Formats: sequence, structure tokens, C-alpha cells
Amino acid sequence: MISLIQVCFSLSPPGSTNELEISSHCFLHSTSAEAVAMGLLKQFEGMQLPAASELEWLVPEHDAPQKLLPIPDSLPISPDDGQHADIYKLRIRVRGNLEWAPPRPQIIFNVHPAPTRKIAVAKQNYRCAGCGIRTDPDYIKRLRYCEYLGKYFCQCCHENAQMAIPSRILRKWDFSKYYVSNFSKDLLIKIWSDPLFNVQDINSALYRKVKLLNQARLLRVQLYHMKNMFKTCRLAKELLDSFDTVPGHLTEDLHLYSLNDLTATRKGELGPRLAELTRAGAAHVERCMLCQAKGFICEFCQNEDDVIFPFELHKCRTCEECKACYHKACFRSGSCPRCERLQARRELLAKQSLESYVSDYEEEPAEALAVEATVLEAT
Ligand SMILES: [Zn+2]
Ligand SMILES: [Zn+2]
Ligand SMILES: [Zn+2]
Ligand SMILES: [Zn+2]
Repeated sequence: MISLIQVCFSLSPPGSTNELEISSHCFLHSTSAEAVAMGLLKQFEGMQLPAASELEWLVPEHDAPQKLLPIPDSLPISPDDGQHADIYKLRIRVRGNLEWAPPRPQIIFNVHPAPTRKIAVAKQNYRCAGCGIRTDPDYIKRLRYCEYLGKYFCQCCHENAQMAIPSRILRKWDFSKYYVSNFSKDLLIKIWSDPLFNVQDINSALYRKVKLLNQARLLRVQLYHMKNMFKTCRLAKELLDSFDTVPGHLTEDLHLYSLNDLTATRKGELGPRLAELTRAGAAHVERCMLCQAKGFICEFCQNEDDVIFPFELHKCRTCEECKACYHKACFRSGSCPRCERLQARRELLAKQSLESYVSDYEEEPAEALAVEATVLEAT
């Protein structure tokens, strides 16, 4: 906007009669692009436009090849514009205006506070959140509340569809169905299988509260470690394929869930499917020479007869930092020996490089003095 105003100023020639008028125009409506455009057009009012043949002094096409500007994929539109009233149904992206904007497909993690219809509708400028149609304040009772977007909709945009609401599942493990607008229904159906919800980030307490979810979490940790091993085992190709029968995020990203995963967890369907994969995985590791070679020997007890693996959650503990694996019972002291070793090495390296830096630095003044002396001699 600022640059547009500046253009507006520089285009109005100094001392021109309408300079004042235009600049004040710009200031008064400096938020409106239309006002600036009108101001610019005014400059050329009454002027004869040059004929095409006179435009040869312009830069020719081959010197500065131009492309047509892209057609915008959204356009501003007034909700009252009857001519475009069907535009929302055509799913053309529209931006709305100051009073109303069409709903955006957003993922909402928070439960909306209980609405006061009167205040909420006034906040929406008495317009349906879906199509922008205006309702007379006397008839706001006819508007319907969408539990997902937390907004009111007209009866065309809200046909009392019922859906489980992500925020209620994630905050309260509440899978009840609530009334939602058509827009939210479509959106929720569309994202049903997308891994959009990180339970650890959104509400990690849920793992403690919901036993089934915690079970799924532990199985996923095991599958995660197994999958990492199997990716580098050429004898585990088939097994990896069977891992792919569940969505990839379940075995790769520990805390991501889709609405479908959460529902399956609650129904007790997800756990058994994951457990079956962990059983198959453990069986493979037991008889695979390649995978056996990737096991750990606990550094605390040095028991070489007991090769341990990070997925054996019941008896092993993996260091979060360096991923080394120890017996749970041995790893009590809290600090990981491998991390301590790595830290000691880092400190040693740092000390050595500091020493070499200091010795370089100490040599410098002597050199500088020598240079100074030669300069003095020369003069
Ligand atoms: Zn509507
Ligand atoms: Zn293997
Ligand atoms: Zn041990
Ligand atoms: Zn460590």
C-alpha cells in the first residue's frame, strides 16, 4: 500500500492543478486499492491516448519478453451479490469482504467455549458463516450452530449433520457426535484418514488417562524401532510389506494420529493389529542372523549372552540422546555411559583446539613486533 501511495505522489506532476486533490484523496482512502487506482486514472482524464503506431518508443517485446499475469485463483466478492450467489457451491475460492469471509478448511484443536447466540451472531455481523447471507436480528433463532467451527450457519449451509469433533476427542476422549455445518462435515470426512493430530503435543495427558491409547503408543514405539532395523535387512522385505498394511505414520511417527486411528483405538481395533505386527517382527529378529548382529550388549553388565534390542521395551531402555540400549534394571544410575564418553571426547577436542588457538595467539605479537621493526628500519 505504501508503495502505491508513493507512486500516486510521484505521478502527479509538481504544481499540477489537481495535485492537492489527488494526494488528499490518497490519504483519505489510503486503505483502498480502488481509491489509488481512481486517483491514477484521474491524472489521465481528458488526455488523448496515443495511437498504437505511436507506441514504438516503448521497449519492444523481444527486448523484454512479457508473460500475461496469472489469473488469480481467488477473487473478492460481496455475499449480497446475487449474480454470484452460487459461487460458493461451485467451490471457487472467494475471499469475502470486511463483513464476511467464507470458512477456511482449518484444523481446530480447541473446544469452543459455550456460545451465546446473540453475541456470536452479532460478531458474525448477522451473516451466515457459510454463505454470508444476512439474517434479520429478529430471526437469529433460525441459525444453526456448528460445533466444529464454533459459528452460526443458515439452514442451507447447516443441515444438521452430525460428526465427532477432533477437539473433543483430543481433549476429553469424547467421541459423541455433534451438529456441524455442511462445510465442516465435508472437511472432517476429507481429513478422516490424514495423520494430523500429534497427541503428545496437543494433550499428552491423554496417554495417561486412556489405557487403550497408551497401549497403542507402546506398540508403536516397538514397531518404530523394528522398522528402522528392517529397513537395512535384506531378509525382511516381506515383513516390511506387511508393516505397510497399516498407514505409514503409525510405524514412523510415534505420536501422529488420524481421526480414523483414534476411533479405531477407542473401538479396540488398532491395538490387536499393531500387536500382530510386533509379534511377526520379534519372530523375525529372533531367527535372522543379520538382525541379530544389530543388537546391543548392555554396557553396564557386559553380558554377551544376552543381546538386547531397542524394541524390547519390557526389559530394555534406550538412551534418548545417543540411542544406545541397556537393560532396564542396569540403567538405574540415570547417566548413559556412551553419552558420558562422547561428552568427554567433545571436551577433550574443545580443550585441544583452545590450546592450539592460544599458542597461535601468543606467537602473533612477536611477529607483529618484527614487522614493525622492519618498517622502522626502512624509514
Ligand atoms: Zn448460509
Ligand atoms: Zn533381519
Ligand atoms: Zn545389563
Ligand atoms: Zn546416551
